[in-house]
Amino acid sequence: MDTKKIIDKIVATSNASVEEIVNILHSHCDDYLFDQADQIRKKYCGDEIHLRAIIEFSNHCRCDCSYCGINKQNTTLYRYRMEPAEIIEYVKKAYTAGYKTIVLQSGEDMWYTKEKITSIIKAIKKLGDIAITLSIGERDYDTYKQWRLDGADRFLIKHETADEALYNSLHPHSSFKNRIKSLKWLKELGYQIGSGFMIGLPGQTLYTIAEDILLLKELDVDMAGIGPFIPHPKTKLKSSSTGSSLLTLKALAITRILLKTPHLPTTTSLEVINIKDRKNAFYTGANVIMRKVHPYKYRKLYEIYPNPSIQEKSIEEERKEIEDYIKMLGRKVSISRGDSLK
Ligand code: SAM
Repeated sequence: MDTKKIIDKIVATSNASVEEIVNILHSHCDDYLFDQADQIRKKYCGDEIHLRAIIEFSNHCRCDCSYCGINKQNTTLYRYRMEPAEIIEYVKKAYTAGYKTIVLQSGEDMWYTKEKITSIIKAIKKLGDIAITLSIGERDYDTYKQWRLDGADRFLIKHETADEALYNSLHPHSSFKNRIKSLKWLKELGYQIGSGFMIGLPGQTLYTIAEDILLLKELDVDMAGIGPFIPHPKTKLKSSSTGSSLLTLKALAITRILLKTPHLPTTTSLEVINIKDRKNAFYTGANVIMRKVHPYKYRKLYEIYPNPSIQEKSIEEERKEIEDYIKMLGRKVSISRGDSLK
């Protein structure tokens, strides 16, 4: 079948087969795909771009992910933890600068017990109408339930790859089934859920990417992060190649035309490979961007992949810079919390 006709069919029906997605990923029909994704983004999400403040509060991790620079085997990395009071201090600064969503992310660090995270959530909720997104990995059902009752709104836990055998080989400490179980529990508990995957993991094929996109649909995600894999020198995958930016943009665009409403960020890994692709992502379906707001002394240490050193700016300066950039794109800065559009 002609690729344009497949794209039109997906736009009209919100259904796709693995083969149809592979056809698009394989084709050179990029301009048409990107244009359709941009129109769908405008129709379902409008022109607003949502800004999320992210605090990477600990780089301690009990996991052994083969691609991740903060995996527990990396003994050369200096490990840090932010105290709850320091986390709350930086949430306050971000809220004052205009952020309405705080993403709290870390390695899987059990030092932050159920009770510690509860106290952080409750303290943040006292500051104002702030949406809390947790991105702290796998925990048990009762723990997720408690945090939801405490007021956590959203949870990001990417499925990373839909290929179960590949997932299990890259994550010897856990399993694909556990990851999916967490996502299903979180959905059941009423969180807005975010999944996502990497483009370019060794062993991945276009079929895997098609399965990744279909899994996002099956999970009925409210948000999805799709970014290129970037090799880190202190990991088992240090000699692998960096994922393709073009393929990342195509996966983002297909996700937009198939799922329609999810919040789709332009990921930091895409920016790291080529800053120009940040703009491209906003024209191929993306409607969200995250900015780091924690102290610079920690940022270099949260090195999941090599990240070029950056010029230090205040939270307000960075916020102003990104707001100006959004306006330059002809888009609007959202002043809402940016909850799920479903
Ligand atoms: N521990 C939490 C979890 O597992 O969901 C959140 C932190 S984890 C470091 C955040 C995300 O970083 C992962 O979901 C993965 O997609 C991404 N990541 C890690 N290493 C990466 C790499 N080398 N290249 C691109 N993305 C990477």
